[in-house]
Amino acid sequence: MARFDRRELLMGGALSAASLALASPLGFARALQRSQKTKRIVIVAMAGGVRTRETIGSPANVPNLMRIIEQGVVYPRTRATNLGHFGATLSIFTGISEPRGIRDNVRGTDPTLIEYLRKGLGLEQGDVWVSTSGGAQEANVSYSLHPDYGARYGANTVDGDGIFNAEFKNLLDRLGRPKEMDPAELVLLERMRASITGGGVGGAEDMASLSKVEHFLLDELRRGTQDLKGLGASDAKAFRVARNLLAVFRPRFLTIVARDADVAHGSFNNYVQVVRRNDEMLGELWDSVQSDPELAGSTSFFILPEFGRDADLNERRGLDHGDGSDDLRYVSLVCCGPDFRRGESIQEEVATIDVCNTVCALAGAEARYARGKKLPRLLA
Ligand SMILES: [Zn+2]
Repeated sequence: MARFDRRELLMGGALSAASLALASPLGFARALQRSQKTKRIVIVAMAGGVRTRETIGSPANVPNLMRIIEQGVVYPRTRATNLGHFGATLSIFTGISEPRGIRDNVRGTDPTLIEYLRKGLGLEQGDVWVSTSGGAQEANVSYSLHPDYGARYGANTVDGDGIFNAEFKNLLDRLGRPKEMDPAELVLLERMRASITGGGVGGAEDMASLSKVEHFLLDELRRGTQDLKGLGASDAKAFRVARNLLAVFRPRFLTIVARDADVAHGSFNNYVQVVRRNDEMLGELWDSVQSDPELAGSTSFFILPEFGRDADLNERRGLDHGDGSDDLRYVSLVCCGPDFRRGESIQEEVATIDVCNTVCALAGAEARYARGKKLPRLLA
């Protein structure tokens, strides 16, 4: 940790800034903010349970992740919180090992890093996005029920699979025609509006941004996002939407929550296909950012599964998650960004909950209740 702190001091720039910083923690964070290159943070939560054996242990599965690692840092000994997909995923965002079972489907009570960023940095809702592959559990990372944080500090949330499908394409085709919408179409339109969720929609400004978002979604349908089909299509849509969100809205914070790898319970082969497809989509997102002059030098990525999977196949030739093995308990966390070291594999044990604290430190926000640490030897 000493190293991280020393680097913060160096990144704080002039000695006067550093001295000021010592006098005031907030001033310290602001000094860091001014001098560092990271202006945007993207978290990719591969939240369907993915073992390191099928990622960096099998480089042919993940050529894009491998080239991202070459330009960043990988922590192959990242301890996961194994409490079911939802609890383990939520932990990445709260920095606390969440005591939630696999079937829990309610918001947590611990603030998420999204709320820390919005409250701490005064970010607008439009600065902060969550793109999920569908389902309420994934969307629940966007804000908690904590009384000091909560919905008013939530993210815009887009549920890719709920909206980018053939039904909506048909709706869009008809919206252009001078015809009254039938009740089924109105229901679809309402579903589209409902799929854009977040805190505090209500004022005139919010309505204007809501309409901007609706236009984005309609454009997205025109671009053919609903045509992504087959195994892993829900995750693919979440990645595609995220890529376009970054290009159009240029948010300060974006997270993708994918989950299709969990087909592994029934089929190892299908799981590997999802791992490969998600790697392709990750590559597409990465290339889109690198080819954008503004985004390329200012965007930092954190990519990790919420936990791994069992060491051995089950009787269906699939992979569950519950054996307590190292394959399950340790994942590989990849960090890549303009302020990070390049091409390093750090063997020190870290934890998935460290992402919350590290991201907040990088952004200059206080992760008040989080119990993770700042990742060691991350900063260049
Ligand atoms: Zn599962």
